[in-house]
Amino acid sequence: MYQATEFLLSFSGVAHLYFCFLFSDFYCKQRKVFRKVSQRLSLRFFAHFAVKKDCTIQKLYSVYLRTIMKQDKNSEKKNIRHLSVDQIEQYFEQIGEKKFRVKQVWEWLWLKHAHNFEAMTNLSKELRSHLAENFSLPALIVDTTQISEDGTVKSRFKTFDNHFVEGVLIPTDERKTACVSSQIGCSLSCKFCATGYMDRKRNLDYDEIYDEVVLLNQQSEKVYQKKLSNIVFMGMGEPLLNYKNVLKAIERISSPEGLGMSPRRITVSTAGVAKMIKQLGDDKVKFKLALSLHAANDRKRHEIMPINDTNNIASLIDALNYFYKQTENQITFEYILFKDFNDSLKDADELIKMYRQVPADLVNIIEYNPIDAAQFQKPEEETVNEFMRYLEKHKVNARLRRSRGKDIDAACGQLANKE
Ligand code: SF4
Repeated sequence: MYQATEFLLSFSGVAHLYFCFLFSDFYCKQRKVFRKVSQRLSLRFFAHFAVKKDCTIQKLYSVYLRTIMKQDKNSEKKNIRHLSVDQIEQYFEQIGEKKFRVKQVWEWLWLKHAHNFEAMTNLSKELRSHLAENFSLPALIVDTTQISEDGTVKSRFKTFDNHFVEGVLIPTDERKTACVSSQIGCSLSCKFCATGYMDRKRNLDYDEIYDEVVLLNQQSEKVYQKKLSNIVFMGMGEPLLNYKNVLKAIERISSPEGLGMSPRRITVSTAGVAKMIKQLGDDKVKFKLALSLHAANDRKRHEIMPINDTNNIASLIDALNYFYKQTENQITFEYILFKDFNDSLKDADELIKMYRQVPADLVNIIEYNPIDAAQFQKPEEETVNEFMRYLEKHKVNARLRRSRGKDIDAACGQLANKE
C-alpha cells in the first residue's frame, strides 16, 4: 500500500512537471487555483517522502516546487501603480506610516519614474523593504532601438510578461512626436497594416502606455535635446478598444504629477468604433481625435477595414458629430492613398462629401508604406498631386504627409515587432 501510494505520487509529480513545461502558458495562467492546490499537495507529499526515503529526485522536485511557488507569489503581488493615491493613503494608514510618505511614493512612481523600490531613496529602508515585499513595480524596458536615416527612432519595448510593442519618435524642426501603441497586436485586421496581420495578445495597462511615453521622451531628450511636443495614439492596436487604460494613461501623461503635457497636444486615432467615439464625447475628453478613414464609401472601406461591417460610414458621421457637439475638439481624417483603389477624383469627391458632413478641421493624406503581407501600391506622384489640387480647389484643409522612418519599418502601418 505504502509503495503504491509512493508510486502514484511520483507519477503525479512527473505528470505535473510534464504539464508545466509543455503547457506552461495555458496551465499557468488559466488554471491558477488548480495549479496552486496541486503544487501545495505535491510539495507536502514529496517533502515527506524525500525525508523518509532520502530520495534525490524527490528532494530536487521539492526544491523546484518551492521555487515556482515563490515566483507565483511575486507575480501575484499587486502592481503598486494600479493603486490610486487614496488607496495608497489608506494602505499607509493601516500600516501606521506617515501621511507625507504618500506624496513621496506617488512622486517616485509617476514623476520620477522609479522602477524599483530601492531607488526611492527618501523613504526609510524599512518602508522600502515593506513595499517590495507586498507590491510589484513592473516596468516597460527598451529592448531594441533603430534610427532611420531621416532621424526617426523606432523602439521595441518589452513588457514584464515578455511581450513586445513598438513606439516611434518622429522628429521635425518644429515638433518631436511620439507615436505610441495601445495594444499588443490588434484584432481589427486592416488589410494595409502590418499590425493587423498579428494576433492581439492583450491590452496594454495604463502604466505600460505611460512608460512608453516616458521612454520616448527620454530618447527625445537624449537624441534631440528636446522634450516631446506631441503624442499620437497611432501605433499598434485600436485605442478605443482599450478605452479605460488609454484614458487613464492620458490622465497621467497630462497630470502635473506625471509628464505635465497638455491634452491638446495628444491625438487619439481610431479605426472607427462609433459607440466609443460617442463615449469620448460623454466623457468630455480634452484631446484630439483622428479617424482612419481611407475610403469614404462603405463598399471600399469594408474591403480594407473589416470594422466597417459593424461601424459603417453613416454611424461614424453620426458619432463624430456627437463627439464634436460634446467637446468641440479637433477632428482629423486620415486617408492613405492606394494606387487604383481610392486615388481617383471620384474618390476625392466622396471624401469631400463626408468632410462636409462632419466638423473635421483637417484631412491628412498619407503616403502608403508597403508591407510584405499586402498587395497595395503607392500611386504615381502626379496622381497624388492631382488629388491634392482637387481637394484644395474644393476648400478642403488637406495636408500631404510624407512617410518617415520607412527604412526601419517605422512608418505608418508598418509596425509589426520585426527583428
Ligand atoms: S490600422 Fe490600427 S486598427 Fe487597423 S489593424 Fe492596424 S493597428 Fe489595428
